[in-house]
Amino acid sequence: MRTVTLGKTGITVNKNGFGALPIQRISEEEAVKLLRKAHDNGIDFYDTARAYTDSEEKLGAAFEGMRDKIYIASKTMAEDAQGFWKDLETTLRNLKTDYLDIYQFHNPESCPKPGDGSGLYEAMLQAREEGKVRFIGITNHRLAVAEEAIESGLYDTLQFPFSYLSSDKELALVEGCQKADMGFIAMKALSGGLITNSAAIYAYMLGYDNVLPIWGIQRERELDEFLSYQDKEPVLDEALRKVIAADREELLGEFCRGCGYCMPCPVGIEINNCARMSLMIRRAPSDAQLTEEMQAKMKQIEECLHCGQCSKKCPFGLDTPALLEKNYKDYKEILAGKEY
Ligand code: SF4
Ligand code: SF4
Repeated sequence: MRTVTLGKTGITVNKNGFGALPIQRISEEEAVKLLRKAHDNGIDFYDTARAYTDSEEKLGAAFEGMRDKIYIASKTMAEDAQGFWKDLETTLRNLKTDYLDIYQFHNPESCPKPGDGSGLYEAMLQAREEGKVRFIGITNHRLAVAEEAIESGLYDTLQFPFSYLSSDKELALVEGCQKADMGFIAMKALSGGLITNSAAIYAYMLGYDNVLPIWGIQRERELDEFLSYQDKEPVLDEALRKVIAADREELLGEFCRGCGYCMPCPVGIEINNCARMSLMIRRAPSDAQLTEEMQAKMKQIEECLHCGQCSKKCPFGLDTPALLEKNYKDYKEILAGKEY
């Protein structure tokens, strides 16, 4: 089984990491079954967050009494020390543990540092001294914050979106982490569902020794797919290279990654799904995109105020209102019978 070492942390784990965001959407019973199956088959790194509703509690239920057999990373979106401690205590209680292997600042707008006035980094250091946190990490969607985190020397790990759709600047982050002896945890390896060939992305990830992908897993068949690659690694052969080239051609550039950082929208538009409808409808099973519920969500685009709040918050610099309009126009044409 292939392993990855997360830089100076020395944490060495299965190349298949488990992203525990999607288990929010299933029952506790289903989540426990899925998580235990993952563990029984060698997955030993689990990434969750205080912001993922009951994900931490489900992990706690699955792994009570097995703490020494797994590595857990969680995250806080706190903006001050008081919020930090409240989050950390809740997280530890939910996970039924007294320490986290990695505690990450969750997508902050700027990189927390000692003396920046927020008290966040100082609180993190204290938590580490108290043994509640072993290593300090940061997650982000903004290149500038990620670059600053690497240069600062203050972090043990960086979590950033990474896939074969990543740009050269994102690839430079992987190299930067290697040079700084930091662990690189890859989120959104399937680009929010737009990459559908898991063998292609798995084979691509094997080319990066220091990258730990955390696959967002909700269904047993998704887990089985990733587990199958442990015994039989996909090879980046001509066929998979063609898949990657075709995806790059179709998806590079101005597309919505579905991250949701632009939300909430004042008129309630579900931007993270609606702004990439044209791609989802063509790349994923289309029935789910054509339900009455989804049609109502798309119709809400008509209410857009063009206030620009969303584009200001989009870490990929997208013109979100224009993208919504474009997707809505295409969607209406599809509903009217256009071939797609
Ligand atoms: S521009 Fe439209 S979609 Fe964006 S936040 Fe404003 S109302 Fe919502
Ligand atoms: S518009 Fe930008 S911020 Fe909003 S979901 Fe898409 S990629 Fe994320």
